[in-house]
Order: sequence, then C-alpha cells, then structure tokens
Amino acid sequence: MDDYDNLLERARAQVPEDAFKRSGERFKVPEVQLMVQGNRSMWQNFQDIINVLNRPGREVLKFVSGQLGTAGNVEGGNAIFNGKFTAELVNEVLLRYIDSYVICPVCTRPDTEITKERGAYYLICSACGARTAIRPV
Ligand SMILES: [Zn+2]
Repeated sequence: MDDYDNLLERARAQVPEDAFKRSGERFKVPEVQLMVQGNRSMWQNFQDIINVLNRPGREVLKFVSGQLGTAGNVEGGNAIFNGKFTAELVNEVLLRYIDSYVICPVCTRPDTEITKERGAYYLICSACGARTAIRPV
C-alpha cells in the first residue's frame, strides 16, 4: 500500500494549513519559522516577515509577545521569546496582528500605514483611502 501516491498524500497531510490563506495571493507573508532552544523559542525569519509587513519590528514583537504572555526581544534578524512555543501558534498570533494592523477592513488590501493624530491611532489605506481608528499595540 505504500505506493508513491500514498506517500505523497501523507507528506501533504503533514504540511500545516496556510494560515495566510485569507489574505489571498496579493499579500504573501512567509510562514513563521520557529526553533525551540532550551527554554527559548527563536523566530528565525522575523526580519523577513517584518519587511513584508512594512511595520516596525518592535511593534510586532510587542504584540506577539503580549499575546503569547511572555517576554521577547530581537537578536540579529531573529525574535527570541522566553518559553516554548510552536510555529503554528506564532503564525496564528501574527495573523491576528495582520488582521488588526495591516489589512484595511474596508477593501481588505494590505497597502496601509499607521498614523497617530491627537493621541489616537489610525490605519490609513492608500488603496481605497479609508481611515480606520485602531487601538495602539
Ligand atoms: Zn482600503
């Protein structure tokens, strides 16, 4: 029974579902690569993902470590968290960040910027011009 098709099917079943499917082809965010080392988790492609998101690394780090309920910092291009986490979990948290702080809720495009005016934060969309009030990270 272990023919090629079966092997292929099993290999496919092991690939985690693409957490970014909802964002579609227009916005390709790489999957989080995470490596547990002792009691720390090293997010290895943090810088790559920050570059795609076009957001300050410290802001993304603050959000993700807050959601994970741990402390984190950036070393080189990696984000390091205290504690053991899975890539799937960090992916999920990252998706929440993207939903709240990157994707325009009006046109669902990622062409946005965050501005601060009189103490309030807004997501400004350069695709459709929408201005959405957001909570600070
Ligand atoms: Zn928009």
